[in-house]
Amino acid sequence: MECTSINILYLLLGSNLGDRQAVLSQASEEIVRAVGTIQKSSSLYETAPWGVTNQPAFLNQVLEVRTTLSPDAVLHSVLEIEQALGRVRFERWGARVIDIDILFFNDLVCHEARLTIPHPRLHERRFTLVPLAEIAPVLVHPLLGKTIQILLDETSDITEVTLFSLNSTI
Ligand code: ATP
Ligand code: CA
Ligand code: CA
Repeated sequence: MECTSINILYLLLGSNLGDRQAVLSQASEEIVRAVGTIQKSSSLYETAPWGVTNQPAFLNQVLEVRTTLSPDAVLHSVLEIEQALGRVRFERWGARVIDIDILFFNDLVCHEARLTIPHPRLHERRFTLVPLAEIAPVLVHPLLGKTIQILLDETSDITEVTLFSLNSTI
């Protein structure tokens, strides 16, 4: 018997160098090519930098993707896409052409240095919660047991997040 599991994956895209909007759309094209089908995509949000604040503002977007890949294979693909689009790592949380984080993979929970799912800081970041709440407000965080909308309402983060470009496809 051949079985395939269809996995629902949420990815956060971020860019604060170069033509940010073009980079995000190239990243989406690469994700379709290498990872799976995009079922939903949030609007683009312009967000003040978090952690290291003396750097340009980011554009962020969240995608819901259907994939048959394993979590490891998804991580491998997104790291490859970052490289292909010109990501160079300087300092932690510093400026970058593209960052692709795995937020959720079904309701999987895993804790490895190389791969932690759900993303361990997602509930502390308005730049993640705002676009995620646009496309998945009732998704329940498997560890915290709360919906994304509730996590957004409860977060103590006050980082500015403003709508940049409305996604008319949802
Ligand atoms: P943060 O994780 O706080 O958003 P960052 O995105 O700037 O920081 P990176 O330099 O992009 O961090 O990633 C460092 C490593 O984190 C990656 O090489 C990857 O192995 C690991 N990692 C662990 N969990 C995840 C995840 N859920 N999504 C993406 N990368 C992850
Ligand atoms: Ca990140
Ligand atoms: Ca990352």
